[in-house]
Amino acid sequence: MNIHEYQAKEIFRQAGMPVPPGEVATTPDEAEAIARTYGGTVVVKAQVHSGGRGKAGGVKLASTPEEARAHAEAILGMEIRGLTVNRVLVTPAEDIASEAYVGVLMDRKAQAPTFMVSAEGGVDIEEVAATNPDAIRKLTVDPRYGLLPHQAYWLANALYDDPAIIKQAARVIAQLYDAFRSAGASMAEINPLITTPEGEVKAIDAKVTIDDNELFRHPELEALRDTDAEPWAETRAREAGLSFVKLDGDVGCCVNGAGLAMATMDLVKYYGGDPANFLDIGGSSNPEKVVAALEIITADPNVKVILFNIFGGITRCDDVANGIVEATRRIDIKTPIVIRLTGTNEEEALRILEEAGFSAFTSMDEVVQKAVELAAGA
Ligand code: GDP
Ligand code: MN
Repeated sequence: MNIHEYQAKEIFRQAGMPVPPGEVATTPDEAEAIARTYGGTVVVKAQVHSGGRGKAGGVKLASTPEEARAHAEAILGMEIRGLTVNRVLVTPAEDIASEAYVGVLMDRKAQAPTFMVSAEGGVDIEEVAATNPDAIRKLTVDPRYGLLPHQAYWLANALYDDPAIIKQAARVIAQLYDAFRSAGASMAEINPLITTPEGEVKAIDAKVTIDDNELFRHPELEALRDTDAEPWAETRAREAGLSFVKLDGDVGCCVNGAGLAMATMDLVKYYGGDPANFLDIGGSSNPEKVVAALEIITADPNVKVILFNIFGGITRCDDVANGIVEATRRIDIKTPIVIRLTGTNEEEALRILEEAGFSAFTSMDEVVQKAVELAAGA
């Protein structure tokens, strides 16, 4: 789950990190009023689940409340990487002497949290990794011991020369690790971590992604979810209990079981097609789930064909077939649908589907080839 910068900053503050104050506005009036209470120069910052806001014109300095209002007017409603800005953060502007990058993420290869830090902050870390990988210092944390003090110093040492600043940065890095761990985050990032001309270290940007599997432990974090800021399909899939990942192809896939869903996507690729999504309806033949799945798949304008691949074990194929028929009765679908079912009660399922006018298969190879063919011909 993604959260906004202002929410991530609150998590950072609770961990004791030096983060400037800030307040959220949803209208230019509010932005102006907040700027007035701070006095002096403020920054007006788009709150969307995306980086690169600065480059997109979503981060603006304002030296007067009137200017803050004008920036809020321009930024609210703006689109950044396909996401509409509904809120801005108004925060006192800091004087910046240097910008560094500090991030920690769950590294699947290392199977442990891994820090990346760089003195080249303020820019995309992916860009630094591609053009100047030596400018990044990495450290994998042994989760049994956590981040040890000398490791925090070793990371901070890659960023600064001044011992007083290194000491502050090491503290921030240790606090970031605590925040990351206690929030059940998969990623926590400060970009930039700045120094001020007075030699103070501060986090002026914050990005945190919470691991969805940690949310049951953290009702207070679940409450931070902003469904207006996430793609509709993700919200719908979550509410219906579907595992869904959008992809860029045109073959909409609806499968039961994550393993079978991946195998189906592989086979689509093998036959020269391109999956539009990963979608696992789980071990259920509940028509509500099938309706939700079809709503999500058909809402994607790229989808040219819908491919069902169902393996009936405990799930009965005839239940799934009834679910599909029921779902297509409730929503009007123009896209061709091809279905493969095999396993428990498959004969009955095929009879139900053929009666309803669907092309039903029992072979996975055949149905995938058919789907790829239809997608190419459509
Ligand atoms: P991002 O582009 O989405 O990563 O948004 P950031 O919060 O990182 O802001 C982008 C850039 O705007 C930073 O790298 C800074 O250079 C600049 N910026 C942000 N806040 C301040 C501030 O308080 N003072 C100054 N002078 N610049 C700022
Ligand atoms: Mn940033």
